[in-house]
This record gives sequence, structure tokens and C-alpha cells, in this order.
Amino acid sequence: MSDAVTYTGGCHCGLVRFECTTDLSMVTACNCSICTKKGLHFSFVAPERFHLRAGGDALKEYLFNRHAIKHQLCIECGVETFAKGAKPDGTQVIAINVSCIDGIELAKLKMTPMDGRKF
Ligand SMILES: [Zn+2]
Repeated sequence: MSDAVTYTGGCHCGLVRFECTTDLSMVTACNCSICTKKGLHFSFVAPERFHLRAGGDALKEYLFNRHAIKHQLCIECGVETFAKGAKPDGTQVIAINVSCIDGIELAKLKMTPMDGRKF
């Protein structure tokens, strides 16, 4: 993470706010059912690089399939700002919805295709 930057972001209505540190070198373009339907592009960071600044009590958890990823939705506007997951070895990881980063321009990001549909 040589070019890691600390970003701020949040949901649409502003209830949920976060700060995260990432270099955005790997942003997913995943073909799984939820990433496709919601237009999700994730950047994965260690939990210590993600801080919820507001809205901890305004989150609704959404689970599906094997419940491996805990999607966090704002109870007011429905935007998913992040998700909690674990790597195969059990290490906890936070998936930040990069579309929720303040001022982000998706078209300027390099996307990494992911074949999530097969899982
Ligand atoms: Zn919201």
C-alpha cells in the first residue's frame, strides 16, 4: 500500500460516514448477483484501516447465500457503504464500496474483473 490515501465517505443521506485508508489499486468489477444488481465496486482493507465515524446504529445487515459477506446498508437511504468479510484463512477484511468515497470518479479507476458468479 505504498500510495495509500485516507479517504472519507458515506451513504447517500449522510447518516453513515466512514474514513478508510487504501491505495485503490484493486477495485473489483465482480459479476456475482449482488455486485451486478447493485453496481458494487469494492476495495478491500484490513479492519484497522477502516473507521466508522457516524451511523453505527443506522446499519442494517443483509446476508444471502452462505452468509460469508455481511453487507451493511443504511437504514434510511439503503446505500451499502461497506461489507464485512473474511479471507479463506479467517483474516477479517472490510470491503469498501468505492462509490461511497467522497468525490470518487469511477471512470478514472482501474477495475479488476472478478468471477464472483461461480462462488
Ligand atoms: Zn443513508
